[in-house]
Amino acid sequence: MTRSPSVPEPDADVLVVGCGAAGLAAAVSAKEERPDARVVVLERSRETERGGNTRWSSAFFRVGEDLRPADGFEDDFAAFTGGAADPDYVRRLRELAPDTLEWLVGHGVRFEMVPMFFLTARRPRLGIAGGGGAIVERLADAAGRLGVEFRYETTAVDLLTVGDGSSTRVVGLRPRRRRRGAARTGGDPRERRVRGEPAADDRALR
Ligand SMILES: Cc1cc2nc3c(=O)[nH]c(=O)nc-3n(C[C@H](O)[C@H](O)[C@H](O)COP(=O)(O)OP(=O)(O)OC[C@H]3O[C@@H](n4cnc5c(N)ncnc54)[C@H](O)[C@@H]3O)c2cc1C
Repeated sequence: MTRSPSVPEPDADVLVVGCGAAGLAAAVSAKEERPDARVVVLERSRETERGGNTRWSSAFFRVGEDLRPADGFEDDFAAFTGGAADPDYVRRLRELAPDTLEWLVGHGVRFEMVPMFFLTARRPRLGIAGGGGAIVERLADAAGRLGVEFRYETTAVDLLTVGDGSSTRVVGLRPRRRRRGAARTGGDPRERRVRGEPAADDRALR
């Protein structure tokens, strides 16, 4: 791989941004596929607050007890999105769902039939015992056991690229770590400036 001389060697083989379901699944599967790879997850929140939207999700899945998507899954997607959903993507989602959910079960996530309040109750739905928070905790535990490294209170603020035009490649990203002892803030970045939250540092992760 040709590198620009201004780009140092990588800190990590796989950098994941975000400690929700997507990021954790990516980090765990990267380590499962390549145990020797250095996998680093950047998460802007504190460890005790990790999990993003996933943490708050009720975590209902439109699948039956066999973990297979309900009949009409693709048609429902097309109808609910007014035809805007990419049919190939939705088909892949349906095809990969059973194995993906079995993979979650293999990591200790437990599905259960839960009371429903949806208008479209004729479609089967399974929930996760403990909701989305259980996905975060089980996958973060798995990641920790596999040797994934976590950097909390670290926000990815910029992608680093080399090349130009059609050959541009992403080779890393620039993190910003919350200053120790600084007030914790959220929301509007202008608010952060006022409260003196994260200071940019000049390190780059690759
Ligand atoms: C109340 C609620 C109920 C829901 N119920 C359901 C449901 O029943 N079924 C369902 O399928 N979906 C449900 N959802 C939606 C589902 O939870 C989300 O689609 C899913 O959790 C998204 O996962 P994610 O990993 O993509 O994002 P998130 O879980 O949001 O994770 C993103 C993570 O990235 C971090 N992050 C973001 N930007 C940066 C950055 N620049 N640098 C570092 N870290 C960063 C965030 O802090 C966060 O931890 C629900 C959502 C909510 C809020």
